[in-house]
Amino acid sequence: MTKTYNFSAGPAVLPQEVLEKAQSEFLNYQESGMSVMEMSHRSSIFENILEDAKTALRQLMGIPENYHLLFLQGGASLQFTMVPLNLTQNQTAYYVDTGSWSKKAISEAKKIPHVTVSKLASSEDKNFSYIPEIDENSVPSTAAYVHITTNNTIEGTSFQTLPHFKDVPLVADMSSNILSNDYDINDFGLIYAGAQKNIGPAGLTLVIIRDDLLKDHINISNMLDYRIHVKNNSLYNTPNTFGIYMAKLGFEWLLAKGGIPEIVKENKEKSGLLYDFIDHSKLFTSPVAQKDRSINNIPFLTGNKELDSKFVSEAEALGLVNIKGHRSVGGMRASLYNAFPMEGVEKLVNFMETFEKEHGG
Ligand code: PLP
Repeated sequence: MTKTYNFSAGPAVLPQEVLEKAQSEFLNYQESGMSVMEMSHRSSIFENILEDAKTALRQLMGIPENYHLLFLQGGASLQFTMVPLNLTQNQTAYYVDTGSWSKKAISEAKKIPHVTVSKLASSEDKNFSYIPEIDENSVPSTAAYVHITTNNTIEGTSFQTLPHFKDVPLVADMSSNILSNDYDINDFGLIYAGAQKNIGPAGLTLVIIRDDLLKDHINISNMLDYRIHVKNNSLYNTPNTFGIYMAKLGFEWLLAKGGIPEIVKENKEKSGLLYDFIDHSKLFTSPVAQKDRSINNIPFLTGNKELDSKFVSEAEALGLVNIKGHRSVGGMRASLYNAFPMEGVEKLVNFMETFEKEHGG
């Protein structure tokens, strides 16, 4: 059977070692006679899993004690609502508009009556192919927060440097580059991410929130209230227990590998190989401004729709799957998250070379 390399933007490839460990423990976790899936979320054995997951994540990302870790549900998409609902009290929330996901975040925030939304900068004029300049002085200290999407999964751009705002917290949708870029947590007030790219299975959402942002606000539904989830250590209702367990295995895998510095190095090598080929290619081009390129999601095109479709189907036959680009950008997209192996990038580049020779690049 041909080996499959999964370039999906999410749910995405998980480390083989993590899958094997989960498989070996699947029926009988640590001699409990139960699968993790069958355990009460209030049992001490599960609470240990939760604590181990939090400890490993704190260690990986260097998360200080004044930040709370939450494992929630509803995807990153529910955070588009929870963030403005919890963090704003008749104030203005500023958003940097860098792609399809930030657009959705903006549109959800606008639906909340006590929130005024202001667009701080946008790159929509060029189909979100770059990260716009941000005037840090244009945000008043009364602002609720500034929201950015650190990595734009669909468009393939990412912030290379973070903006800083005096007295105004930075909120980040880090869904597609959490744990694969080196960030200082102290630069953020709140970080959220859907799990299905670099953390674990879909259905789990991570929120990291600084303690001073848990302020009093209008009465909101318990399930939407960060304070309730913090007070109950993510156990207010039944969480995605198996997802938390898988995330714990993933965090431990990354720690054993050498943590964020090691994975950043690997991710730069993987993306560097592909970008280098694209930059020298006569057939393939990158639609993204060079200075803003993501190391996690890499779109590329031939400029000819039929040729792109041919590339996608021939790639699939070789085991290079899920490489079709998002419809808003077209062409192809290689998502190279932490668990994606270098040999898969090498195989892709070899195929691109052959394809280029055949199609007169
Ligand atoms: N934000 C970004 C940057 C994403 O890439 C995605 C999904 O791919 C989302 C938000 C939405 O995440 P979810 O499907 O978990 O709601």
